[in-house]
Amino acid sequence: FINPMGEDKSKPTQIWTQGETEANSAWMVTIDKPNQKSTEEITMTVPDKYVTLSNGLLISKKKNADGSRTDYWKMDLPHAPYLFFMGVGDYSITKDTYKGKEVSYYVEKEYAPYARGIFGNTPEMIKFFSEKTGVDFPWAKYAQIVGRDYVSGAMENTTATLHQESAYQNGRQLTDGNAWEETIAHELFHQWFGDYVTAESWSNITVNESFANYSEYLWDEYKYGKDYADAHHSEDMQGYLQSGSEKKDLVRYYYSNKEDVFDAVSYNKGGAILHMLRNYVGDDAFFKSLNNYLTTNKFKAGEAGQLRLAFEEVTGKDMNWFWNQWYYGNGHPKLKIDYNYDIPGMAGVAEVVIQQTQKTGKIFTLPIAVDVYTNGTAKRYNVWIKNQTDTFYFNVTSKPELINVDADKILLAEKTDNKSDENYINQFKYAKNYLDRKEALDYFAKKNMPEIAKGLHDKFSKLKINTIQKISSSPYKADPVVLSDIEEMAKKDNNKKVKAAAINYLVKTGNTKYLPIYQAAINDSSYSVAGAGLKGLSALDSSNAYIQAKKYSTDARGTLGNEVNRILIANGTEADFDFIANSYNTAAPSEEKIGMTEKFAGFLLKVNDVTRLKKGIDYIMNFRNLIPAQYRSYVDPSFKVGFDKLSAAKGAEIDAYIKSVFK
Ligand SMILES: [Zn+2]
Repeated sequence: FINPMGEDKSKPTQIWTQGETEANSAWMVTIDKPNQKSTEEITMTVPDKYVTLSNGLLISKKKNADGSRTDYWKMDLPHAPYLFFMGVGDYSITKDTYKGKEVSYYVEKEYAPYARGIFGNTPEMIKFFSEKTGVDFPWAKYAQIVGRDYVSGAMENTTATLHQESAYQNGRQLTDGNAWEETIAHELFHQWFGDYVTAESWSNITVNESFANYSEYLWDEYKYGKDYADAHHSEDMQGYLQSGSEKKDLVRYYYSNKEDVFDAVSYNKGGAILHMLRNYVGDDAFFKSLNNYLTTNKFKAGEAGQLRLAFEEVTGKDMNWFWNQWYYGNGHPKLKIDYNYDIPGMAGVAEVVIQQTQKTGKIFTLPIAVDVYTNGTAKRYNVWIKNQTDTFYFNVTSKPELINVDADKILLAEKTDNKSDENYINQFKYAKNYLDRKEALDYFAKKNMPEIAKGLHDKFSKLKINTIQKISSSPYKADPVVLSDIEEMAKKDNNKKVKAAAINYLVKTGNTKYLPIYQAAINDSSYSVAGAGLKGLSALDSSNAYIQAKKYSTDARGTLGNEVNRILIANGTEADFDFIANSYNTAAPSEEKIGMTEKFAGFLLKVNDVTRLKKGIDYIMNFRNLIPAQYRSYVDPSFKVGFDKLSAAKGAEIDAYIKSVFK
């Protein structure tokens, strides 16, 4: 129940439920396990001004004598109890369709103009996923609703997905790209993997989450190209590698808490495993196997074993080795790759030695492609890594320009790849994948090689941005050609994020000749570009920055919002309290806001009025109390730093007040 009595004037009254894992049995009688399935009817009686949302279709609405209204929702296909949902609030509903079925978006009225900007690709996604799986969208409708103070990212309730407030973006934010699109794809794909066929147990949650995770790749690849999808996939893989989960099995029969399985192993690693599986069996067999799993187990539960049987039936291959290694095992390979040529007595032969250096004693079996380049053309070899050390010999007519191990860049592994400078130069020149180019550019940056500048002309925006950031700490940062290339990007690049990165680069030079670029940027529709422009203006003319920040503060989010806040907090006085406190309080809960909290607490040191100080402290606590209890041990220390300074500076009354609220 969000603001049920309407006492908080800054927040609407809403209701949302969250079932997963076993919370729906708190409000209905059910056997609350994911392997249960049933149809469902829900009636909700609400004040007439509110709309309701539940699973299936709204069958009837009846106005009652007391001014309330009773809505009757019916779901006539079986699904699991954790997917049952109720949502209530003062929402605007925007409607699209897919093959005559309603596709709707429930947003607060302020966001109604942007509902299609945020969710409008949903019908195309439904079509795309229906075609990929060969199972046409199985449910009667698909609705998405945004709930206040919803602390999980989003939830795939059957036909009624709930999103957190981060889904809300206005037109200017959408100019920088829809930050929520992959989540929209993720929850939608759960309508097949999760809702149509449901993980048999929490131990098997990966058969829901790995597919939802991988759907982000599939959608990105189809809609924005392979580079874009590969970049997203690579970030997800880093998320797993940095999570310290090497000892956790993908299918986990032993856990201390069922919530623990919702982690980087079930999601990110699961998605990376599906990506390797797709590469191994090929696209036709991969998507046929998904179809087989979905149709064989529809309206029932499935586990990793059923997924293996589907792949075996379609491919005719035994897949036990793959499942034992990845699904019922843990860890990932750490590969050391060395290259030799001119071996005595072995003329015309290039040697590649691949060692598995993980200390776990587990040796991985990895089918991979190796591309051997001579004279700019590649010859492909498909090989298996199977031993602690594998040595491969390739016949060549001359010294290879590059031997590209894992040429499709699909491996979930950590690599020490001992290529030469020349090899990486050729890799950037010839090899096509995002990671081929990224690895080469990272190497150029690490070795301070001038080739790093080639990344400024890459066809992919994220690699351009990556290059701009890397060059700024390289010996080539003041190179006239580099500077003029980046100046062009700052003026003209079509991608707003590239443009913003280029402007940020120019700001660091401190050169006043770029002032007109900043002045033009500050009025850009993109908050990233405008924020970079304001940063440039404030760096060159700090006395004017405060006036500028106030001027642009009426519509400032994202990077522009951060920049405005930074300037106001640094230069503001007690007279600016209302404005600064309000912009802090209304900033959406996020990781960024934790950093902003420390700065806001720093600003409060300039405030002397006790009522204002308490209000500021209340705003900080409003945010802190939204953070779920289990995460507070991580974030409370940063809150404490700010509070301790206030306690020390503002005397006994404030000290006592902080002690009474911050517990
Ligand atoms: Zn999910």
